[in-house]
Amino acid sequence: MVKAPESGESMWSWLRRHRKLAGGVAFFAALAMMLLQLFKPFPEAVNRVLIAACQLTFYGAALVAVYFMFFYRQAPSSEAVAARDTPSGDEFWAEARRRHRLHFLVWVGWLAVWLPLWKLYCLMLPRQDPMVAMVLALVTWMGVIQWAGWRVTSMICFNCGHRAFDRIPTFMRRAKCSHCGTPYKADQRS
Ligand SMILES: [Zn+2]
Repeated sequence: MVKAPESGESMWSWLRRHRKLAGGVAFFAALAMMLLQLFKPFPEAVNRVLIAACQLTFYGAALVAVYFMFFYRQAPSSEAVAARDTPSGDEFWAEARRRHRLHFLVWVGWLAVWLPLWKLYCLMLPRQDPMVAMVLALVTWMGVIQWAGWRVTSMICFNCGHRAFDRIPTFMRRAKCSHCGTPYKADQRS
């Protein structure tokens, strides 16, 4: 349920708490816009106002979604920074690094894997349809990529106990827990 901003809570922090809904709102605004344009269920003037409202909602929600996905950096609290410098912090980030690296390797691995995978499917298929075999190879490897990505995004933060990554961090050194903001700690030994 979406609640109105609690008193004293800034609009940004309210938006941040509901950031995952922004994509859905944009989607439904676009859908409503399409239906209004297709079926014109209301008188012309009303229809036009509704379409404009949908457009506004769509761009607003899309902007919010893009902002929180790519630009928003949560400032870590001093408590989160302190939590990082513990043995469990080291362990967590080392594991995150391993999983992140595997995900990257799996992505790049497609370049090496597609040919043998494709050939294999070509041999296995009764009619030896190269196109179907290619689609199967692609789907198989997408599954592997999904799995490697899930291994990253399913990690539970050592500090707050929530899922640490909303999405796969582009660069590990800029990663932080998306719930409590505990920032990344580089490997001290290297
Ligand atoms: Zn956390």
